[in-house]
Amino acid sequence: MLYIGVDIGGMSVKAGLVDENGSIIVKDTAVTRAQAPAEEIVADIAALVRKVADEGGVALSALGGIGVGSPGSVDDEAGVIRYSCNINFVRTPFVELLGGMLSVRNVKISNDANCAALGETVYGAGRGARNSVTVTLGTGVGTGIVVDGRLLTGNKSAGAEGGHVIIKAGGEKCGCGKRGCFEAYASATALMRQTARACERHPESGLAKLAKERGIDGRTAFMAAKAGDKVAKRVIGNYIRYVGTGLVGFANVFYPEVFIISGGISKEGDALILPLRRFVQKNAYGAEYNPPIDVVAASLGNDAGIIGAAALAMRG
Ligand SMILES: [Zn+2]
Repeated sequence: MLYIGVDIGGMSVKAGLVDENGSIIVKDTAVTRAQAPAEEIVADIAALVRKVADEGGVALSALGGIGVGSPGSVDDEAGVIRYSCNINFVRTPFVELLGGMLSVRNVKISNDANCAALGETVYGAGRGARNSVTVTLGTGVGTGIVVDGRLLTGNKSAGAEGGHVIIKAGGEKCGCGKRGCFEAYASATALMRQTARACERHPESGLAKLAKERGIDGRTAFMAAKAGDKVAKRVIGNYIRYVGTGLVGFANVFYPEVFIISGGISKEGDALILPLRRFVQKNAYGAEYNPPIDVVAASLGNDAGIIGAAALAMRG
C-alpha cells in the first residue's frame, strides 16, 4: 500500500509518495500562499497531492491514505487546524476539506513536530523503538512524544509541548511569555544568548575573537570549544547541562528507549550527543538499574516530516 505524506511549511508545502517501508518514491513541492483564504491553500495542497500521485503512477483511489503535518495548533482527532502563526489557518476543518476535494477517506493530520517525531521513531534514528521523545533544538524547542508506537498529544492534542516545561522557576524569559522554560535554556536562540554573555564577560577569550570575526550563531561556541578555548568549553558544558536536565525530566516521566535530537544544533553530532547521552544515563532516576536510555541524532533530515505524516496515515 502507498501513502502520501504532506509537510506544510510557511514558505513551501512538500508532499511525497511513501511506501510501507518509509521510503519516498517521488516527492514534489509547491509554494505556500500563506495569506490566501484557507480554502485556497487547501486547494493548492490538493493539487500538489494529485500531482505527486500522478508522478508516482498511482490513482488517488488506490492510496492507503494521506497524512499531513502542519505548523501551529492542530486538533488531530477533529482534523482541525486551530491556528498557525504564519499561515492563514483559523479553525480550519482541514481533513474534511482536503478529503472532500480528493475523495480520499483516510486523511490524518497532526502538528509538524509530531509528524517528524513519528517519522524518526518508526523509520529514522529511533527505528525499532516503541517509546521515544524527539527534541528539536532550533529557534525554539519542539518535542514529539511516542508512547507504545503512537503519538502522545493529550486532550484535543494540546499537549506534548515539552519546550515549555519549566526547568528553573523564575528563570530566563521565554518566547511564550513565561519564565524558566526548557526552550529558554536549550534552543539555538538561548545558546546564542549564552554565547554573547560569555563574550561580554571574557573579551580576551578565543570565543570572543571568533564571535567578532564571524558573528554569533548556534555554532560559534561549538567551534571555539573544538579549537580548545576554555570559555567556549564552559558555555557548551553549561548548555549540555541545560539540555540534559530537560531530557532527564522527560526520561523520568516517559522512560523512552531513545531520545532523538533534531534541529540545527543536532548537526554538531558527537560533540553534542555523546555528553548528552552520558548526562542522561547518569542522572535519569533509577538509571543504574533500568535499561539504558539512548540519545541519538535525527537521521531523516528534511524528509522526516513527509515520512512521518505518511506514517500517521498508515496508523489509521
Ligand atoms: Zn515557554
